[in-house]
Amino acid sequence: TAAGVFGPRRVLLASPRSFCAGVERAIEIVEKVLAKHGPPVYVRKQIVHNVHVVRDLERRGVVFVDEIDTVPPGVPVVFSAHGVSPAVHSAALARGLDVVDAACPLVTKVHAEARRFAQRGDTVVFIGHAGHEETEGTLGEAPGRVVLVENVADVATLRVPDPARVSYLTQTTLAVDETEEVIGALRERFPAIRGPRSEDICYATTNRQNALRAVVRDADVMLVVGSVNSSNSQRLVELARRDGTPAHLVDDATDIRWEWLVGAEAIGLTAGASAPGGIVEEVVAALAGLGPVDVEDRQVTREDIQFALPRKVATS
Ligand code: SF4
Repeated sequence: TAAGVFGPRRVLLASPRSFCAGVERAIEIVEKVLAKHGPPVYVRKQIVHNVHVVRDLERRGVVFVDEIDTVPPGVPVVFSAHGVSPAVHSAALARGLDVVDAACPLVTKVHAEARRFAQRGDTVVFIGHAGHEETEGTLGEAPGRVVLVENVADVATLRVPDPARVSYLTQTTLAVDETEEVIGALRERFPAIRGPRSEDICYATTNRQNALRAVVRDADVMLVVGSVNSSNSQRLVELARRDGTPAHLVDDATDIRWEWLVGAEAIGLTAGASAPGGIVEEVVAALAGLGPVDVEDRQVTREDIQFALPRKVATS
C-alpha cells in the first residue's frame, strides 16, 4: 500500500461532472421497462458508454446485444442514448419488435437537422468520430448525402457535388475548441456553408469541458472517470493534456496507478457524462485513504435540464 507516502493534498472537483440529462433519462427508461416487463429486457448496444452502468443493468436482467436480429420476439428492446439510423427502426418494425427508443433528445435534434438539410439538396458534412454509434446513426439519416469529416485534414480532401450547397452538423460530444477549427476550415473551403440553428455540441459536453478548464490550470494531474468508449470522457482527457497537464481516464479507483500521484499536490477530478457520480465519491475516498485531502468543488455553472420520458414508459 502507498498509505503514508503522501503529504496533504488538494482534490479539485470539476463541476458539472458525471451524468447528464440524456444519460439519466436513458437509464431510467431501461429501469422502467424492466419494472414493467420483468427480465429479460434487451438493449441494442451499451445503453450509455460506461462499464459500471452496463454491468449493473446486466445483473438486473438486461441483455445487451450489438444488433436487433438476436432479440427474440415478444421481448422489449431499448435503443441506446446514442440514437440509431432509420434503417434500424425499419428493421425492428419489420420484425414486429416492441421498441423503446432511449436516444437523447439532443441527438434526435441533430438527426432532424440532417434530414432537413439533406432534403433541401445540401451535402451535409458531419463532424464526428468514425465508428461511433452516434455517427453511424446520424449518417444513416440520409445515406450518401451525409459525409463524415473527423478533422481539419479531412476538410482539405473533401469532394462535394456542389460547393454552394453544403451544410454542416456535429456530433454532440466533441471538443468545442477543435470543432471550431474544423468549422473554420469548412467555412474557408465552402463560404456558403450553413450550420445548425443552435450548437450541436450539447450543453453537458460544453459544461464539462468548461468545468475541467477551471480546475486543470491548478492541477498537477487530472483524473477523468469514464470508460474508454465514452467520447465525451476521452475529450476531457485530451483537453487536459492539450493544456499541458498529465491526465488519465479511469473506470474507477482500482484503475488509479499511484505513481501518477507522486509529487502531485493538487489532483483534478472530473467524470464524463456517462460516468456515475458514486464512482467519483469512491475515488475521493481512495485518495483520502492515502493521506489527508482537502476537497474543493469548483462549480462553473448549474445544470437543471431534464428531459421528459417517452410516452410509452412515462405512464408505466
Ligand atoms: Fe444527450 Fe449530451 Fe448527454 Fe449525449 S452527452 S446524452 S447529447 S445530454
